[in-house]
Amino acid sequence: MSIKILVVDDEIELQPLIRQRFRRKIQADDYRFRFAASGQEALAAIREEPDVDVLLLDINMPDIDGLTLLSQLPDLVPTSRAVMVSAYGDLTNIRTAMNRGAFDFVLKPIDFQDLELTIEKTAQYVGQLRDSIHTKAVAELKARFFDNITHEFRTPLSLIIAPVDTLLQNPTHDDPTRHSLLTIRRNAHQLLNLINQLLDLAKLEANSLPILEWRGDVVLFLEEVVHSFGSVAEQKSLSLTFSANVRHQDILFDTDKWQKILANLLSNAVKFTAAGGQISVGCVLGSTRLTLTVTDTGIGIPREHLSHIFDRFYQVHTSLTRSYEGSGIGLSLAYELTRRLGGQLSVESQPGVGTTFTVELPIQPVTEPAYLTAVSQPQPGPEPLALVAPRQQGGDTELPLLLLVEDNTELLAFLAESLAGQYRILTAANGREGLDVAQRELPDLVVSDVMMPEMDGYQLTQQLKTNPATNHIAVILLTARAALQSRRDGLGQGADDYLTKPFDLLELQLRLRNIITRQQKLRTYYQRQLSPAPGALSAVEPDSGPSPAPDAFLTKLDQIIAAHLDDSLFRAESLADAVAMSLRTLTRKLATLAGVSPARLIRTYRLRRATELLQAGHSVSETAYLVGFEHPANFATAFKEMYQQTPTEFSADNRA
Ligand code: ADP
Repeated sequence: MSIKILVVDDEIELQPLIRQRFRRKIQADDYRFRFAASGQEALAAIREEPDVDVLLLDINMPDIDGLTLLSQLPDLVPTSRAVMVSAYGDLTNIRTAMNRGAFDFVLKPIDFQDLELTIEKTAQYVGQLRDSIHTKAVAELKARFFDNITHEFRTPLSLIIAPVDTLLQNPTHDDPTRHSLLTIRRNAHQLLNLINQLLDLAKLEANSLPILEWRGDVVLFLEEVVHSFGSVAEQKSLSLTFSANVRHQDILFDTDKWQKILANLLSNAVKFTAAGGQISVGCVLGSTRLTLTVTDTGIGIPREHLSHIFDRFYQVHTSLTRSYEGSGIGLSLAYELTRRLGGQLSVESQPGVGTTFTVELPIQPVTEPAYLTAVSQPQPGPEPLALVAPRQQGGDTELPLLLLVEDNTELLAFLAESLAGQYRILTAANGREGLDVAQRELPDLVVSDVMMPEMDGYQLTQQLKTNPATNHIAVILLTARAALQSRRDGLGQGADDYLTKPFDLLELQLRLRNIITRQQKLRTYYQRQLSPAPGALSAVEPDSGPSPAPDAFLTKLDQIIAAHLDDSLFRAESLADAVAMSLRTLTRKLATLAGVSPARLIRTYRLRRATELLQAGHSVSETAYLVGFEHPANFATAFKEMYQQTPTEFSADNRA
């Protein structure tokens, strides 16, 4: 490719000289010269042909001098470079030019051999510069594409997992169906896991994976992670053991990253150890470091491969490992995560004997009374999360209302931000505040931390679940305590679901969605039961599965209305009084439960009873009074609206 050179010099005699000296280069199309006799002319030439490679700039020119032109070049032609051409005596200006970014200089009278070398050197630099800019742009494009595409994978995957989870909740499936569903779920989770790993790696590479530290019992935590491999180990007849030098120790640590590191090592150990082998995990807690070893009696790794196994996509024997499945991502992720946490991951192995991976991680002592530490953002990283979440976000009344109760402001902000698209969000900083907000706003769902000042998550759950005004609200507890006992505690208080920190955001979203779907199904069911189509009074069934149990609260309301059936003054307010709730509370609760207003509930109850009375032979006006209508005409209108039939027509059709 030819080098494009713009010569800017008011000394026009230079032009034929250059043409003459470089005629061979010009003939071979190695060099393409263009000449400008002033700064202005140079600007015009650049505008016309901005792909110039090298500029030869005279310093002293009448209109725009070379130094001024030089300072404009970064904006005009950022990837070109200038060579200053000046006289011997002009060293001060040459110095200035070099300081302003000139690539080199040549002195007049011009030594053309030297000029040729300078042009070549400058053009070479420009070429490299453009290559590296191009490479960087391509890398950025790739990273963005990668990020987008992985996110694109996550959404449909979660849309596979969520309905499968819902289907699996149905106990009536036969074994082959259940087996297929479990296979779908397992594989979808595997894909999701792989995608999450790729995303993590990309984030680690971009240095944008934040460290989130929680306070927790690290020994219990590690034991739980090991424990989660119990069933796969058992399936392969592997013995899996965990030992630690202390029984309990609270520290601050990034549970999510620790879990990923250990889980990756364990899944490899399980994968590469034949049936009957042993896997042992050891944990030694020092004052500033924790050393974790994962030892297996598996196939081992040949010496020549040891130095590569932390490389991305590296697999020892592709033919062999292919039968083991895998992508070569796990270890590089574990390695990068360990480094991100300031630790080290190393390996020792002997083929045919076994492998030991050793993770050394720095640990943070607990600083009371903080339960969680702040989010530490790497530099450069994304914008730090807002410290205080807005009290309420979004105004779309169609979206379910979700209350987040969490004393860690960063986590609260993170959750609020992540869920804001799917929910209207309310936030509270502790259980007491959460209870106030829940009683006032009656959200559809509460997601609450367990350990909080003032009132903890268990107390909050208990208060919500024992109050008739709020006992329909679904509660999900989030806690760092992995122990089974605390899970039982939460569920014992009536929590609907339970997620252990570190929780996967996607999992939380799925669980929330499951609850919302369940609520919606129930709502449709009750709604249809409340105002059935004529002739379909007894044939109301939910979409699938067995009928839900009648809701205790709705049954109670029915009983109260029944007791006031002929009282035309018994209205929505009276019903709210009867259940000791404000009308607003009753309205919200009924909307969540059955999608109807109290007035509508009373009216449909009256009309439902009217059909029975008409069938039993009561006259229309009699029935109207008995079900609390003052005027038979109003009764007839309401009846027709609900059953598309007048009471007279109905009794003619249905009289027993
Ligand atoms: P994957 O397991 O998906 O192939 P990893 O990055 O986790 O990818 O591991 C890279 C390679 O290192 C594996 O393919 C395997 O050859 C080797 N390896 C990792 N862990 C072990 C182990 N415990 N025993 C033997 N080989 C191992």
